[in-house]
Amino acid sequence: MLYIDAASQLHYDKAANFALTCPHCQVLAHLTPVSVPNFGQLVAFKPSHVGVVYRCDSCNSPVFLKYPVKIYSTNRIELATDFSELERAPEQFNFTYLPEEPELLFREALVCFSIGAYNAFASMCRRVAQAVFAELGDNGKLKMFDQLNDVREIADLDAETFNIMRKVLFATDAEPRPNIPTLEAFQAGVLLEVMKDLLYQSYVRRGQLQQAMMMRRHALEDTHSKITPLTKASS
Ligand SMILES: [Zn+2]
Repeated sequence: MLYIDAASQLHYDKAANFALTCPHCQVLAHLTPVSVPNFGQLVAFKPSHVGVVYRCDSCNSPVFLKYPVKIYSTNRIELATDFSELERAPEQFNFTYLPEEPELLFREALVCFSIGAYNAFASMCRRVAQAVFAELGDNGKLKMFDQLNDVREIADLDAETFNIMRKVLFATDAEPRPNIPTLEAFQAGVLLEVMKDLLYQSYVRRGQLQQAMMMRRHALEDTHSKITPLTKASS
């Protein structure tokens, strides 16, 4: 139950546990309401949505949420709890090992996802996939398809969700419309995790391993150069 009373106070039975990933500090933090609209003003204009400003308990920054109004009654305004966030925490990804074009496109894809533009996000994922295929060649494309099958198995994706992922990433622009299916929030979330995993497997994992091996080799060479060979030492 969430409502604003006649004294413009916000009441929420789950207020003590109300937490969200803060768009500013990216911490899953408790939110405290600091700015609730005036009851009289709301009643006078009866907007369909009401904005509330919270304070992030972790970094003190303002967090803006918008709620649909359920009912205007005489002494309270009941709000639905399915709020929308005006600013969302950006999705994180380690871009260090990505080539320039996939990096640029995937960064924009994450921006689309963060603002809830899920179909723009899907279109950008198609472009990322095309850039990656061009960069890795046919073999790389086949490998990525195998990886997608792995994800399906590990994450236990149902056939419908898997097919959407497959179409977004592996169908071509030349196929009959709509060759990119329309996505809802959940499917976009799955696509995001799939993309992160595919890019991790194709670039990040390889880059991190190669760098780690190079460090090992350097460390070994350093040790060798400090040890006097046995033959020289004994003579
Ligand atoms: Zn914060």
